[in-house]
Amino acid sequence: MCGIIGFVGTTPAVPHLLSGLRKLEYRGYDSAGIAIASPTEPDIVIRKAVGKIANLDQAIASHPLEFEGPIGIGHTRWATHGIPSVQNAHPHLSQDGRFAVVHNGIIENFHDLRKQLRELGFEFRSETDTEVLAHLIQLHRADTLIDSVRAALRLVRGTFGIAVVSSCFPNQIVVARRGSPIVIGANETETIVASDVAPIIPYTNKVTFLDDGDIAVLTPGHFEIRSMENTSVSRSETAVDWDPGAAEKGGFEHFMLKEIFEQPEALENCFRGRLLEEDGTAKLSGLRLDPHDIASFDNLVITACGTSYYAGLHGSYAFEQLAGIPTRIEQAAEFRYRNPILSPNAGVIAISQSGETADTLAAVREAARKGATVLSICNIVGSTIAREAGRGIYLHAGPEIGVASTKAFLCQVAVLNMMALLFGRTRRLSNSEGVHIVHALKKLPDLIRSVLEQKDCIRKIAEKYAGCSNAFYIGRGYMYPAALEGALKLKEISYLHAEGYHAAELKHGPIALLDEKVPVVACAPLVPGHDKTIGNIQECRARKSPVIAIATEGDDSIAAFTEDIIRVPQCSELVAALPVVVAEQLLAYYIARFRGEPIDQPRNLAKSVTVE
Ligand code: GLU
Repeated sequence: MCGIIGFVGTTPAVPHLLSGLRKLEYRGYDSAGIAIASPTEPDIVIRKAVGKIANLDQAIASHPLEFEGPIGIGHTRWATHGIPSVQNAHPHLSQDGRFAVVHNGIIENFHDLRKQLRELGFEFRSETDTEVLAHLIQLHRADTLIDSVRAALRLVRGTFGIAVVSSCFPNQIVVARRGSPIVIGANETETIVASDVAPIIPYTNKVTFLDDGDIAVLTPGHFEIRSMENTSVSRSETAVDWDPGAAEKGGFEHFMLKEIFEQPEALENCFRGRLLEEDGTAKLSGLRLDPHDIASFDNLVITACGTSYYAGLHGSYAFEQLAGIPTRIEQAAEFRYRNPILSPNAGVIAISQSGETADTLAAVREAARKGATVLSICNIVGSTIAREAGRGIYLHAGPEIGVASTKAFLCQVAVLNMMALLFGRTRRLSNSEGVHIVHALKKLPDLIRSVLEQKDCIRKIAEKYAGCSNAFYIGRGYMYPAALEGALKLKEISYLHAEGYHAAELKHGPIALLDEKVPVVACAPLVPGHDKTIGNIQECRARKSPVIAIATEGDDSIAAFTEDIIRVPQCSELVAALPVVVAEQLLAYYIARFRGEPIDQPRNLAKSVTVE
């Protein structure tokens, strides 16, 4: 998920690694580290630090390296398993200290592997899933480094981009990819590898992207790619014409746009290892709830702020629909002060991307004080809310840098749907109903991809409406939280006044504001309530409001009211909000861009709201 760098050349590796790590900083990270090897030294030296690269500089300055080697790997970690700490920061060393590994991604079967390695006498120094790789490579040491790494990777389930150095096999780095990017570039005397092109550009503009299943050996000025089956592989070279600044956003103009486009992958990471197709349920071990615990909840309270609150509203519908548990949603700032009633068998679900939101944290403490079982849904591993709740689910959405939340929202909704499925299967859903839901969830990444493909159509609509001053977003059922979220996105980054309303509520007041200058974004895919929403669209048209419709592919009923239609794919009601929200994100993004607003740092907003 975060950053990998590797350098093999003829000059000391440290400055190359540190400048490469700086180029990866934009991805967001919580700790960093480097490992250096040398053909003339029996050991590998490592330095790590929590926080910024400057802290790593400091760690190196205060404990100078024992030697200067021309081979090294480095990492910026975005914790998924184990809190951000020096022990958990990468690189990780094998027990004998001869192999060092940096890893992006998640080793799904690390629990079993760790158990097996412990039985063989390996001792673990970190809480990470990654450390098993270092020990496995030592255990399966073969005649070459690539064979040792390949043997270890055969035992691993999950995703990885990795880089490995070894003092037993000097003068080389081995890298491999399954699901996490690895890019290689070489000039005459140096070879550089990274998790994206940004750190490579100062060395060469010709880069080679590994495919899943590729494993490569890097030596000074040269690299060779092979397959996991040990056949030779050739991958074409790509000439990069980005300037280094643009490359730091992966070629996107803004982090927000990059994160919008990362959403299919974020959802895949969020679902990985958690959806059990045959049993039609979800495996969410972090909740630490057995079926008896789940059966004993008599109600649930979801509490959150901002975008997370809207995800929670979606969740409250899903819990009632799938699990039949009375569920209410409450703003964390209200929950913490108004002395809410919690029954002895209440479950409280707190949602916060950063895991540091002050009001949500206070709500967690209040709920715990009242004896409720508190479950967290956070993106940042080891964050205060995740730690204090003690039970919960991480989004695994990867770092979200844009202030306006995009991929975290989608993953929050995905997690809530998985929880509702698990609770539902424990209480009242049949296997076949569960299987149906698992299938619907698994399709989501592709559904989102098909919305992203319509960016040009959405940009055209955005251009048409970029000059307006007010807008309404309407929806009902699961489209109601989607309407609220769409309006919030527009407010946050374009500074336009936008209101999200239940489609039926418009006529109870706000319809007075409608006229030809106030567009209405109608969240109107083919889900239950569609015909009623069409009625509400007609009410808006009768007041001359232009309508931007987000409608299902092939649904012609909408064309009578507007030509501004954004198409979303047909899908089940439970997941239909997500393609709609992605369309809204792109609409808000392009409107803000046409208006020339600073999209990644909107005025007055902060990414992590740690004040009440
Ligand atoms: N899963 C690994 C960890 O938590 C790698 C995280 C990353 O991709 O930065 O250490």
